[in-house]
Amino acid sequence: MSNDMHRQPGDQTRTSARRRVLIVGGVAGGASCAARLRRLDESAEIVVFDRGPYVSFANCGLPYYVGNIIADEGKLLVVSSETFRDRFKVIVHTDTEVTAIDRAAGTITARDLRTGSVRQERYDVLVLSPGAAPIRPPLPGVDLPGVFAVRGIPDSRRIRAWIVDRGAKKAVVVGGGFIGLEMVENLIHRQLSVALLEKLTQVMPPLDPEMVAPVMEHLEASGVRLHLGDGLARIEQRHGDGLVVVSESGAELAADLVILAIGVRPETGLAQEAGLRIGARGGIVVDAQMRTSDPHIWAVGDVVEVEDVLTGQETVLPLAGPANRQGRVAAESIAGRATRFRGVQATAVVGVLGMTVASTGACEKGLRRAGVANFEKVYLHPGHHADYYPGAQPIHLKLLFSVPEGRILGAQAVGREGVEKRIDVIATAIQFKGTVHDLAETELCYAPQFGAAKDPVNLAGMIAENALNGDMPLADWAQLGSTQALLVDVREPEEFAAGHIPGCVNLPLSQMRHRYVELPKDRELWVCCGVGQRAYYATRFLAQYGYRPRNLSGGYTTYQALKAVAMVP
Ligand code: FAD
Repeated sequence: MSNDMHRQPGDQTRTSARRRVLIVGGVAGGASCAARLRRLDESAEIVVFDRGPYVSFANCGLPYYVGNIIADEGKLLVVSSETFRDRFKVIVHTDTEVTAIDRAAGTITARDLRTGSVRQERYDVLVLSPGAAPIRPPLPGVDLPGVFAVRGIPDSRRIRAWIVDRGAKKAVVVGGGFIGLEMVENLIHRQLSVALLEKLTQVMPPLDPEMVAPVMEHLEASGVRLHLGDGLARIEQRHGDGLVVVSESGAELAADLVILAIGVRPETGLAQEAGLRIGARGGIVVDAQMRTSDPHIWAVGDVVEVEDVLTGQETVLPLAGPANRQGRVAAESIAGRATRFRGVQATAVVGVLGMTVASTGACEKGLRRAGVANFEKVYLHPGHHADYYPGAQPIHLKLLFSVPEGRILGAQAVGREGVEKRIDVIATAIQFKGTVHDLAETELCYAPQFGAAKDPVNLAGMIAENALNGDMPLADWAQLGSTQALLVDVREPEEFAAGHIPGCVNLPLSQMRHRYVELPKDRELWVCCGVGQRAYYATRFLAQYGYRPRNLSGGYTTYQALKAVAMVP
């Protein structure tokens, strides 16, 4: 390491009086860093480079531009180069790619993509925010005309033009994550017939499979042809412009256009070539001030590895919120202020044809992968507002928490209304290292059309408390096929007749007080109802009469979701 790398950014040994801050990438992380830095330091020279034609555009709006929900491309431009110049005295060079960093000399190489001219630019401080590139697997046909990934405005413009010019009627979306599902929704909105090919057996990999069972059902009911558990093998061009997506299992899906949405990879090329430290997850390693292994260089956004606040492990998380916050932290750090990035917890939401899917923190799969064993989970399905007020829509909610402390580890929710509000509340509680007891006590706004006196968030906390303190021991859904316990469904006979867990006996809660003696005392009783509430009442009753009841959390509604993804027999 040269002496230069040991100098602190605040020192002036390399600098002229006016600090020169160069920023590579002018969208979420880079633009927020530039704007914040100007608010803190009027004297710095701030220059932003982006190889694209725009800075500060709304990547998150791109699927809706394809869907023509956002019809005016101009709406995607949050701040123009001119505004950066006039309002913030930030110089922006668009269509200019930074191709190399010379750390010893403190320079970058910039190439004007319009003229081909190359120049060196000196920096005192360098900020990298180049984002993450869509993964294009090295498979035959991925570069054929009509195969697109969505990253920038020009991509979206090309997709729009392709749909119109070719009169596209059929699309295949490869990848069922956030961007894939948003593209499905928007292509359906444009009246295309859509097939979704996903290598996993579920959509929305950040959530647990049973939580997305209603989403998959809804996609199919909306006409989307789901091909799950099947990867992309190749894309072929047949019959003129017509494309055929061939899956690993040999399925052939005809398409007029194909969207590749199989994930993104941090754009670490520049950093790697400059010898900056890259982590095991493939992102640039930064400290809590977003500084890289070179004290003159900061990095933010999709390109960095950051700490997952729940597992304590490093992760990459390509989301706009963290990128913006990191840009701000980097600016504060560059300006010499005490600051730190707290880490991420993966709070995210996506709309899917009228449904909302949201999550924060760890999912059960993730906890198991990380080797965490001391956790428990509850399911609930409350209305998004008071049931007596017309129009209540169920929210399917899963809460994960540590045992015995009750620290909130994560939550997932799916429904039509009020979903993201509940996840945002729980996300905030996670930020403050809250417990399920905090959720039970949280005071939230209530009027009949907005919530309930016991909000779904309170209910989740209360149910988890009941599980933790032994008032309502939980049965393990995963043991349903092997348990020796007697399964008792406490719904009314007509509900039971309409569908129940195989092997259940029916003893309605309404008859429990005079029929409970029919139940055996020498076996555990696994109690179930529609969503868990009546089973809880039965559990409390039976426990006080010397029985050994456990609650099948979430009841028959959860059973159906688990069954749909083959997690129970
Ligand atoms: P980016 O915003 O990607 O900006 C990086 C910029 O750097 C690009 O303009 C790139 O051209 C430029 N660049 C790269 N290398 C160089 C170089 N060598 N020289 C010059 N310029 C360079 N997140 C959410 O939280 N919610 C959403 O709903 C959501 N929807 C999304 C939808 C789509 C279609 C996409 C693509 C992303 C979405 N995201 C969403 C993710 C979010 O946009 C990113 O997490 C965020 O933009 C990352 O910010 P960034 O600054 O790291 O990178």
